[in-house]
Amino acid sequence: MNDALTHEVLNQPPPVADHDAFTADPWLVAAVERCGVADVAPQASALGRFVGSAEAQRHAELANREAPRLRTHDRFGNRVDEVEYHPSYHALMEFGMEAGVHSIAWKRGRGGFSTHAALFYLWNQLEQGTACPVTMTFASIPVFAHAPELEREWRAKVLADAYDPRSLPHAGKRGVTIGMAMTEKQGGSDLRAVRTRAIAQPGGEYLLIGHKWFCSAPMSDAFFTLARLEDKVTCFLVPRMLDDGSRNPFFIQRLKDKCGNRSNASAEIEYRGTHARLVGEPGRGIATLIEMAHHTRFDIVVGAAGMMRAALNAAVHHAHHREAFGRKLEQQPLMANVLADLALETEAALLLAFRLAQAFDDARAGDAKANELQRALTPIAKYWLCKRLPPVALEAMECLGGNGYVEESAAARLYREAPLNGIWEGSANVICLDVLRALSRSDAAFAALADESAAAPDPRIRRRIEWAAARLADRATAESDARSVVEALALGIEASLMLRFSDPSAAEAFCVSRLDSPGSGRAFGTLPGAANCGSIVERARLRLG
Ligand SMILES: Cc1cc2nc3c(=O)[nH]c(=O)nc-3n(C[C@H](O)[C@H](O)[C@H](O)COP(=O)(O)OP(=O)(O)OC[C@H]3O[C@@H](n4cnc5c(N)ncnc54)[C@H](O)[C@@H]3O)c2cc1C
Repeated sequence: MNDALTHEVLNQPPPVADHDAFTADPWLVAAVERCGVADVAPQASALGRFVGSAEAQRHAELANREAPRLRTHDRFGNRVDEVEYHPSYHALMEFGMEAGVHSIAWKRGRGGFSTHAALFYLWNQLEQGTACPVTMTFASIPVFAHAPELEREWRAKVLADAYDPRSLPHAGKRGVTIGMAMTEKQGGSDLRAVRTRAIAQPGGEYLLIGHKWFCSAPMSDAFFTLARLEDKVTCFLVPRMLDDGSRNPFFIQRLKDKCGNRSNASAEIEYRGTHARLVGEPGRGIATLIEMAHHTRFDIVVGAAGMMRAALNAAVHHAHHREAFGRKLEQQPLMANVLADLALETEAALLLAFRLAQAFDDARAGDAKANELQRALTPIAKYWLCKRLPPVALEAMECLGGNGYVEESAAARLYREAPLNGIWEGSANVICLDVLRALSRSDAAFAALADESAAAPDPRIRRRIEWAAARLADRATAESDARSVVEALALGIEASLMLRFSDPSAAEAFCVSRLDSPGSGRAFGTLPGAANCGSIVERARLRLG
């Protein structure tokens, strides 16, 4: 008996060969063309080749497996407050920052947000821990605009397309990253509960005293933070290193042991006489930082759509190669239904994310209606894609069978990562209440959403939007109905986008299953029998050459 025979590997899918995750994805290529930014192809392709490489996938695995470690003191007992990352984390950060994922939106004129969306969509198919400092750095630019002097000092370094992890004053660095520290023990959603104090010093500086319960990427070069100046909740910038090269008293007390997002350190920090500079007007701190959150929410929409793409790709690849009961899994009618349903969800998410990016671009170019749309649609899309991502990740994992539940597959990491986007930058209820407030303040916001969904005239969509309008009008129940209203609006717009930009039979399968089929919608794999699952999956497949 030859022992080696027991180890013959049969019926296991091959690894996905190195590929360009941009050019292989026809949906993404079409999305950038629709947004008028087809010229981003060389940059997207360079990033796509990295994202689709075995080398980058290995970095992503290692950066998460070898989680960051906190060093509070050196061997002589001096406080150092350093987080040590695995070299793979640095390799990823270097590639992402040099590719300009964080900066392209601001450096490019027209179409900047759409180009950023293309890069960030790709990045989120690879690794999400590094996406956190990248997105915070991206979103810092509108906040710097509230402090012209700080903007002059920091903006060029933020946009430098260089990753420089050294602990140095920002002036001596090739590039910087920016974090934010708002959440305290007693309140994260309700930032009016902030207790950190700011004490004015002669010369216009401030010293902070307080504790922050969550501060991700604590090796960032500076942090936007909230503190009470007298009684006013105010925004400040806290550099990690001071201009004279000494450390700002910025104490990293411990790192959170998280469910996912393990490559990224998230810390509890303490301010004790920590130097800070004022950002914006005293008392306008929450409003100032909401501007940052609006942009990180935009990124969450794009990132969640990218993560769905990664989950779908893994499922489609596995089912294409694996056989059971004498046929490829993808040829089994029920598996084809599951894959097709996942594909519809993923395509609708991509269309929603890029429609939002386009609205950001048009708003920046001065289009008032696009501005209403991007303001209202950002929280709606954030809510909805964050609610859809965990079940997509779960279902895709299940498509891989036991292999999906094993850490060597990226599916397991994606599954643990999936809920986080729904929690930070406004948890679901808080987001829905934001939507409610925005819609009650401005009729124009609802009109922009209604017009967007009506761009594909379909009675099923119209009924949803009318239903949402009626629920909103009932002041007594609007708050407890907020999730249903936001879901109706999100689905109405997704369906409209599918009807306009997807294949007609895929769009019809989306509308039937999401808008009016009693047997569909609670789990994936419940498309009605008439759906052409085979062709829907075929459209979703990466073009791997
Ligand atoms: C991994 C990770 C990293 C993070 N990094 C950072 C960071 O870098 N900087 C930072 O400042 N914060 C960070 N956070 C904190 C995060 O932003 C907060 O956890 C989040 O805003 C929720 O705040 P909370 O934890 O205090 O929960 P709470 O505010 O107590 O909310 C708990 C629940 O109650 C719901 N809720 C709240 N108000 C209402 C209401 N009026 N009606 C109905 N429901 C309501 C919320 O939706 C939520 O589901 C991080 C969190 C995590 C998990």
